[in-house]
Amino acid sequence: MKCDNCELRQAEILQPHTGKRLCRECFLADIQERVGKEAKRLGITSASRVLIAVSGGKDSLVLADTLSRIVDPGKLIAFNIVEGIRGYNREDQVKELNQYLKSLGIELISTSFKASVGYSLDEMVSSSKARGLNIAACTFCGGFRRKLINQAGRDVKADLVATGHNLDDEAQTIIINLLRGDVKKLMRVGESPLKLSDKFVMRVKPLRKIYEWETTIYAYFKGFKFQEVECPYISARPTMRAKVRELMYALEEKSPGFLLRVVENFDRIGEEARRESRLSTLPTCKLCGEPTSFGREYCKNCELLISAGLKSS
Ligand code: SF4
Ligand code: ZN
Ligand code: ZN
Repeated sequence: MKCDNCELRQAEILQPHTGKRLCRECFLADIQERVGKEAKRLGITSASRVLIAVSGGKDSLVLADTLSRIVDPGKLIAFNIVEGIRGYNREDQVKELNQYLKSLGIELISTSFKASVGYSLDEMVSSSKARGLNIAACTFCGGFRRKLINQAGRDVKADLVATGHNLDDEAQTIIINLLRGDVKKLMRVGESPLKLSDKFVMRVKPLRKIYEWETTIYAYFKGFKFQEVECPYISARPTMRAKVRELMYALEEKSPGFLLRVVENFDRIGEEARRESRLSTLPTCKLCGEPTSFGREYCKNCELLISAGLKSS
């Protein structure tokens, strides 16, 4: 069967949300075009200085690849964090990643939780367990990743920080925050997130309209070598996300394009709500000086370290 787009080459992919069958070249071009469109809407220009948060996973490689077609690669800086998870963060993976980024002309800077926070993720988890606490590894991991990425963005004077979250991640986040009634978090999702502190570098997600299956196929067609080993902590992930994920996939299967509509409709609502917003600047943490939520003395990360007995208040 021929490609519905070029009508020349053999179709290899069915894109359920458009109903089109595409050849390899047209599929890759479609993803690049959609990322380009979203990146432009997010304020990324060819002259932007962008810190790309990479992990060595497929989405971060797709992000680096697609952004390097939009932004001068000399203005892109990749930032990788080694969390310190036994059997997960492999040295050779960072080498592979570095090689690929080099081929695109992107510089890579790397750090680890151990070097930046003082403890590896495994150490944080075991210390909190030893105190009888049941804090999920992902809670430590997500919070410290966000903090270090923001600090790195500031250090390199980036205009924007780009992360590799795809459409599936974004739709899940929107639905979870809706279910929790977390209006403040909801207002920070979206195409032009609110910047509630001068200490925050604006975070954008150029892949937020690309399905996860599409980033997988893109990586496969491009022959990327990426980390396929699953994080050992993934099975302990909060169940809410897993349930929402399952429900969303069932709806997507019944009604192709469902996830895309969730994000696009939310963008319209979010835009309106942000215009009406009267949120002020976030306070700063008394211990580390980073922004924290309204009404808090310490940031979530410092609170976690205090409760795990790794920091004193
Ligand atoms: Fe971090 Fe959790 Fe992801 Fe593992 S699964 S890398 S602990 S967020
Ligand atoms: Zn084609
Ligand atoms: Zn703090």
